[in-house]
Amino acid sequence: MNWIAVRRNEQLKQWARELGFLDCGSSKAEFLSEEAPRLEEWLKNQFHGEMQYMENHFDKRLDPRLLVPGAKSVISLLYNYFPAQQQPQDLPQISKYAYGEDYHVVVKDKLKLLWDRMSQEWGQIEGRCFVDSAPVLERAWAVKSGLGWQGKNGNLIQKRAGSFFFLAEIIVDIEIAEDTPTTDHCGSCTKCIDACPTDAIVKPQVVDGSRCISYFTIELKNAIDDRWKGQWNDWVFGCDICQDVCPWNRFSKPTKDEKFNYRNEILDKTWEDWRQTTEEEFKKLTKGSPLSRTKWSGMMKNLSLFD
Ligand code: SF4
Ligand code: SF4
Repeated sequence: MNWIAVRRNEQLKQWARELGFLDCGSSKAEFLSEEAPRLEEWLKNQFHGEMQYMENHFDKRLDPRLLVPGAKSVISLLYNYFPAQQQPQDLPQISKYAYGEDYHVVVKDKLKLLWDRMSQEWGQIEGRCFVDSAPVLERAWAVKSGLGWQGKNGNLIQKRAGSFFFLAEIIVDIEIAEDTPTTDHCGSCTKCIDACPTDAIVKPQVVDGSRCISYFTIELKNAIDDRWKGQWNDWVFGCDICQDVCPWNRFSKPTKDEKFNYRNEILDKTWEDWRQTTEEEFKKLTKGSPLSRTKWSGMMKNLSLFD
């Protein structure tokens, strides 16, 4: 047993908690042999739709040592965004992760603070921080690091906290003791599969991204096929259905980070309000918010499906 590595693991968990992370775990940086055939199959089936970038860096996605030379450990972190207040159901629905500020910025800032602490306490370390920004198979690493299991809806689920959290990673060139993966607690439940309006969950843990409402409303640049009209409930940016119905999300607790708080000026907008929003107003309103990603034209395209 490498006691230094064990001590590092304990320290990391403590520092992560102090910085407001929900959880933290570590795994050995190695080739993800179980993920390789799954990723290959997913791409072969064209489940990534127009997201061509998913085809890039196939090898790097599967081996963090190609992403960070000399990598020895992958640290996985969870950051809770579950909002205390939720949108009334008669309004155009926006995914909860997008209620507040851009998580890439908020969580990256937290990772930098953790990195600083690691460097201060452990001396010279090399590595990189990631928040949904590079070819890292986040869920697979979080599962390996014992943070939860991959639910049938594809999300990472934790018994104590559900699935409304962001995932982040730090890949480092030092050894940190590995955590032990947890067991799967989906059991015979199929609520997410049954509730998905576009049948995007083609089998447990496999989501056809090209049929997912999140893809249509955020990623897709081309026109949306009319055959989807009326099938999206009221989602205009992302979709939370398969998480909302998950029984484990009864254990979600509101985030303590006010940067992810409910923003009335965006979330209380009616269908008419959105339709009358000009491009200038949209830009001003969504500055620093994940909604800026879809741009005004994207939002108008999404709304058009409900005309
Ligand atoms: S996010 Fe919505 S559309 Fe996508 S898989 Fe889940 S329920 Fe289906
Ligand atoms: S809804 Fe049920 S099957 Fe789907 S992820 Fe949650 S527990 Fe698993």
